[in-house]
Amino acid sequence: MDMATKAKSKTLKKKKSDGKPKCGLCGKTKKLTKTECCGQWICDDEDKYVLFSYAMNSCYRNHRRYTLCGYHHTEEHPGEWKDCPKCRDSFETEMYVFYGTNEFNFEKLENPPAYLPTKCARCGAVISLGYDGYSSKGDKYLCEECTHKEMESIYRRAKR
Ligand SMILES: [Zn+2]
Ligand SMILES: [Zn+2]
Ligand SMILES: [Zn+2]
Ligand SMILES: [Zn+2]
Repeated sequence: MDMATKAKSKTLKKKKSDGKPKCGLCGKTKKLTKTECCGQWICDDEDKYVLFSYAMNSCYRNHRRYTLCGYHHTEEHPGEWKDCPKCRDSFETEMYVFYGTNEFNFEKLENPPAYLPTKCARCGAVISLGYDGYSSKGDKYLCEECTHKEMESIYRRAKR
């Protein structure tokens, strides 16, 4: 590649990236709004959410509900969410890291604290509290599979 073409491809690339505003989470360019918490472009899609559906398809809702940034804003904490002691105290470490580093964040926690993996009290499988299904009782956690097994045995015992 000679110098001239190299320069040309560089400018072309630049033109493509700074165009219309797009959702910082999924990249869509239609029907955007800005987040209240951090002023980033995001899909104005909260109306798509069906109550009690537990659907995770709304960028706006996901950012507000499942990130420290959204939580910090909703709870009206002072300062930055990244070094907010109130946010840190509100969640167990694993969830704090999940809320601070999941894909619903525009900016992720730079130095997330270390935590011991949560393990199923019955089979010992590692449970990811942010991503996996589980149930908890006190400080004991059961993975999704063991939760089902446990429910079945309770049901069987009750029937007897
Ligand atoms: Zn989006
Ligand atoms: Zn935000
Ligand atoms: Zn906070
Ligand atoms: Zn288990």
